[in-house]
Amino acid sequence: MLNKKNKSLWGERKPLKSSYDAVIVGGGLHGLATAYFLARDHGIKDVAIIEKNYIGFGGAGRNTAIVRANQRTQENVPLYNEALKLWPVLTKELNFNLMFNNCGNLNLMHSEAAMKAARMNVSTAQFLGVESHLLDAKQLKEMEPAINVSEDITYPIHGAMYHPPGGIVRHDAVVWGLAKGAAEYGAEIHQDTEVTAINTEKGRIASVDTTRGKINTSKVLVAAGGYSSAVINRMLGIRLPISALTIQAMVTQPIKPLFDHVISSGAYHVYCNQTLKGEIATGAHMDDWPNYTTQTTAHYIKHQAEALTQFLPCLKGLKFMRIWGGLADMTPDMAPIMDGNDQVEGFFMDCGWGYFGFKSCSSTGKYMAEFMATDEYPDILKPFTMRRFEQHRLMGETAALVNYSADN
Ligand SMILES: Cc1cc2nc3c(=O)[nH]c(=O)nc-3n(C[C@H](O)[C@H](O)[C@H](O)COP(=O)(O)OP(=O)(O)OC[C@H]3O[C@@H](n4cnc5c(N)ncnc54)[C@H](O)[C@@H]3O)c2cc1C
Repeated sequence: MLNKKNKSLWGERKPLKSSYDAVIVGGGLHGLATAYFLARDHGIKDVAIIEKNYIGFGGAGRNTAIVRANQRTQENVPLYNEALKLWPVLTKELNFNLMFNNCGNLNLMHSEAAMKAARMNVSTAQFLGVESHLLDAKQLKEMEPAINVSEDITYPIHGAMYHPPGGIVRHDAVVWGLAKGAAEYGAEIHQDTEVTAINTEKGRIASVDTTRGKINTSKVLVAAGGYSSAVINRMLGIRLPISALTIQAMVTQPIKPLFDHVISSGAYHVYCNQTLKGEIATGAHMDDWPNYTTQTTAHYIKHQAEALTQFLPCLKGLKFMRIWGGLADMTPDMAPIMDGNDQVEGFFMDCGWGYFGFKSCSSTGKYMAEFMATDEYPDILKPFTMRRFEQHRLMGETAALVNYSADN
């Protein structure tokens, strides 16, 4: 990561100033992307990204790097579609290879009811201009010969939803690329620095306290991933309908090329893809109990091995090499909260991403930056208001997951 000119991609550690135009709490995907677009689109460069550990410490560096735009609802699809289209653009613009591999996604369907639900999802996607198709079991087998489409497994495969433009983007490259881009515009990244309080005066943001001193500012974005609801509740007394849960993932030893697509199964609660190195990266399991531990469990390893080898029996005997856990900030409708707050002028939040926050960060960074710069709530973000929970207008993304999808 050493670069002769700058020492690191995002510049040398600077002293913390006593004031910035904006402070971003969290050096994860959403914080870094918002800082980049604040500078690129709105000329707001006097920004401090405050990260309590190191950039990419949270879900940013732990996710399984899956991107796609075939979400269930018409509010969600446009946001994810724009994000998907931004990866090649950002690769050029940041002059940093984000390693976008649009290998396509296959969501396996294990019943006729799931096929019906998938048909609805495919129609929504096609209606909104996103490429998505339904495959029967024979077509799926032709596309991925390694998949077991026989009747002799617990949940026999009836077909799949095929989404060609999705795939994988290298997650650490996204963190480093966005950090480099934001820093080149002048944003400052302060690692090993924790925000400990957000202070208001007369209903407006006034400053934040950090472990390295106070910063005066009129705008604060909290994009603290799994820690967001605790940070916002503790520092501003705003309660969010978010539970933090641990998701685990792992990779196997590398093997020769076996399959090309990202493959997900809701019934088996597992997804996988083969990395460019040949490993099988796999995840989906989420602990049932809220916690902040990021611990891994033997139960998960057993589940994952049993589930994967049902529909990919040729993986039997393969060894898992690494396992890790990270936090998912889950809302009741599995859609994020991107909003301000009527009681606190200058406060913005971008959280509740659960297992979808990697694939969305490029476009949401752009719109959160617009929101912060103009104080106008962009239309595309309005469905993600916190108010939907008070008004019983929850989104239908959970339906997609329950019916057929795996969590990625
Ligand atoms: C195992 C796993 C697999 C996943 N797979 C996928 C996937 O395939 N596709 C997908 O789209 N998403 C996936 N996700 C979800 C995705 O990683 C998250 O939604 C995303 O990282 C959220 O980004 P963020 O910027 O909001 O938060 P994060 O990336 O978590 O960053 C938040 C940062 O805030 C910092 N912070 C917290 N409190 C403070 C404080 N008080 N002061 C300063 N800094 C603070 C943290 O240290 C952290 O670095 C997965 C997640 C996990 C754990």
